[in-house]
Amino acid sequence: MKSICIVGAGQAGAQVAISLRQKGYEGALTIIGDEGHLPYQRPPLSKRYLKGEMPQDGLYLRPAAFYEQQKIDVLNDRVTQVDMAGHQLTLASGETKGFDRLVFATGTRARQLPAELDARGKQLAGIFNVRSISDIDRLRPHMQAGKKLVIVGGGYVGLEVAAVAKQLGLDVVVLEAQERLLKRVVAPQISEFFAGLHAANGVKVLCGQVLKQFHGTESVSGVETQEGEVFPCDLVLSAVGALPNDSLALASNIECDDGILVDGQGRTSHEDIYACGDCSRFFSPRYNCSMRLESVQNAIDQAKIVAGSLMGEGAEYDPLPWFWSDQYDCKLQIAGLARAYERVVEVGSRDNHSFYIAYLQDDKLVCVDSVNHPKSHMMARRVIGQPWREDLLPPA
Ligand SMILES: Cc1cc2nc3c(=O)[nH]c(=O)nc-3n(C[C@H](O)[C@H](O)[C@H](O)COP(=O)(O)OP(=O)(O)OC[C@H]3O[C@@H](n4cnc5c(N)ncnc54)[C@H](O)[C@@H]3O)c2cc1C
Repeated sequence: MKSICIVGAGQAGAQVAISLRQKGYEGALTIIGDEGHLPYQRPPLSKRYLKGEMPQDGLYLRPAAFYEQQKIDVLNDRVTQVDMAGHQLTLASGETKGFDRLVFATGTRARQLPAELDARGKQLAGIFNVRSISDIDRLRPHMQAGKKLVIVGGGYVGLEVAAVAKQLGLDVVVLEAQERLLKRVVAPQISEFFAGLHAANGVKVLCGQVLKQFHGTESVSGVETQEGEVFPCDLVLSAVGALPNDSLALASNIECDDGILVDGQGRTSHEDIYACGDCSRFFSPRYNCSMRLESVQNAIDQAKIVAGSLMGEGAEYDPLPWFWSDQYDCKLQIAGLARAYERVVEVGSRDNHSFYIAYLQDDKLVCVDSVNHPKSHMMARRVIGQPWREDLLPPA
């Protein structure tokens, strides 16, 4: 194999390249990314980087010298077309780039607000997303004490920004369309805890709120809900989830379905093309369903599988997903997926901000959400799937 190109210079793209070199691949290796940065980690964007506690270089996964030493070309360009028959990429700059094998690691983009709202939002200044370094660099100068921020979406990203904004002295309202925060990923007990945590820090959290329209002429000045309430604001954060960047793959006739479909080794429907990270969807034997995960764990672990697969190894990807979120003094850690469960067991003290919830299905442990309880998280990653016993996880 003479050359491998990776489209997307994010967590997964960088890991494929790093692992390929570690596994002894000596051919040409190129990462093409369109953000004008070396590959970087996104989690601090909504946490320490937004707060101004982390320099930009702290985000980079490796310094420029690493890629030079490893003979990994990192190109700042956008791939606009893939010629499968000719094994050639067309770039936005007009350049072309040949490849023997291609890896899509194109990640996700921010989901837009509903059409009419979004059309209006695009005309108004003061409406932000939080996905990239440039999003944060645009937002941070507006994060000034006393300003009014409305956050649309009570998922991880919205809540992490709420915590930072509150700590910086802004007035913060979170509007969530579902009846509780983080509904997609945690049990009601955890939602309740985080709603209480934000309220105790002075954030106004309102669930079951569907947006109707933005107010303002040049800059946004308010957000109106369908119930007719208007929340005055100086800025709005849209944090309503993410969509996979699979259009380039689709245009290349690669099978996609809310993500680029890959098998257990990260291979797409075209034999020379692979995909990994947020943009890919795979079948999990562990959960007996297809899934697309948006997490650092998945980006790194699936990238390693793809690198192995490119080197002719046969390892199959079937992860136990894990994730974390930092809000105020609380670290939420999730091990496993609580897609279906019959009951939960809660251990520890919510008042002391140190507890965990074990999710049980057929009397087996399927997932653990912990708050400031790293021991239970680490143990859960080892024992998930085992029959439940009181001593399976650590005490309070
Ligand atoms: C604000 C925020 C906070 C997060 N916090 C956490 C957390 O606490 N814990 C956790 O586990 N996960 C967290 N995540 C999720 C995690 O960062 C992602 O799962 C991870 O970055 C996915 O890596 P990836 O390489 O698949 O995609 P990305 O990191 O999104 O990288 C994809 C790259 O591909 C580029 N690209 C796309 N199309 C093209 C093209 N045609 N040509 C060239 N380049 C292209 C994109 O611009 C992007 O740079 C967070 C994400 C965000 C946005």
